[in-house]
Amino acid sequence: MIDFQLLKPKSSTDAIAWSAKSPTAQQGALVRFVAGGTTLVDLMRLNVEQPARVIDINRLGMDRIEKRPDGTLRIGALVRNSDLAHHPEVVTHYTALSQALLSGASAQLRNMATTGGNLLQRTRCPYFRDLSFTGCNKRNPGSGCAAIAGHNRTNAILGGSEHCIATHPSDMAVAMMAFQAIIHVQGVKGVRDIAIGDFYELPGGTPNIENALQPGDLITYVTLPAPIAGANSTYLKLRDRASYEFALASAAVVLQIAAGHISQARVSLGGVGTRPWRSHEAENALHGKAANLANYQAAAEASLHDAKPQSENGFKVELAKRCIVRALTNATVSA
Ligand code: SF4
Repeated sequence: MIDFQLLKPKSSTDAIAWSAKSPTAQQGALVRFVAGGTTLVDLMRLNVEQPARVIDINRLGMDRIEKRPDGTLRIGALVRNSDLAHHPEVVTHYTALSQALLSGASAQLRNMATTGGNLLQRTRCPYFRDLSFTGCNKRNPGSGCAAIAGHNRTNAILGGSEHCIATHPSDMAVAMMAFQAIIHVQGVKGVRDIAIGDFYELPGGTPNIENALQPGDLITYVTLPAPIAGANSTYLKLRDRASYEFALASAAVVLQIAAGHISQARVSLGGVGTRPWRSHEAENALHGKAANLANYQAAAEASLHDAKPQSENGFKVELAKRCIVRALTNATVSA
């Protein structure tokens, strides 16, 4: 780990001013915000991240969960994953989000990790995290991608490019994608809202740029739209072991069924995409259809139609399909 300057601002305005001239959320940033530190500190120890300045934002408030009169839920960026997972409103009305959070990491890490930080989790691609491998376009743009010709069992089958096939590791973000969260940002030019569907970048030719955040941008809170009346949601995560493991495939579904037919469906996937993966294909396949196994299987087929498996992860195609079908079935049974 290199030497760095640690700053503790008293306001978000100070935090943004101290970081305004540097990217804060893209690979190689010279300034980084830190809250729980469960991603950043790891990467600093590995020298994958070497910021000259680290801004501790833990004293900026932003740690409340608030149900608003319009039915939306406001979640401060510094709300810890454990607190969010166990909040009664989340357990009852955003069940998939609670389940996704509780499926992630360990209890100790969930007590530290924050909402804003979880959205910005970095990939677990082993070549990214190990400096002894020189070929990693995400860590070192233009250096190549060791995973494409190397070990890629855990890498992405959706959204990859010839430059990067790294999966996004967050469970929480997959559920938030299904709930169509809005991410609120305060930056040099004021405040703005970013729909989570527009927040994550595909790797394309610049896998080092992972999201829509600009220099100085600070995530301040997240809004979940009001729950869909009568809808059920669930999160299913499939992985190599039952705890403290990242998804090989996961699915968050929100399902509203009326008279045996699907009136609204949201499907998003984890463990298979280069970003938390909203499957509009599955949703379109489900809309208006009878809530039955055949239609769930058709939706799963549509979801994975464009999958591009690598040499070691072809199994993810079938795994993801089965994950979708099981998640939809679970949401139906609990309806
Ligand atoms: Fe790096 Fe992405 Fe290739 Fe992994 S998949 S080695 S993160 S460029």
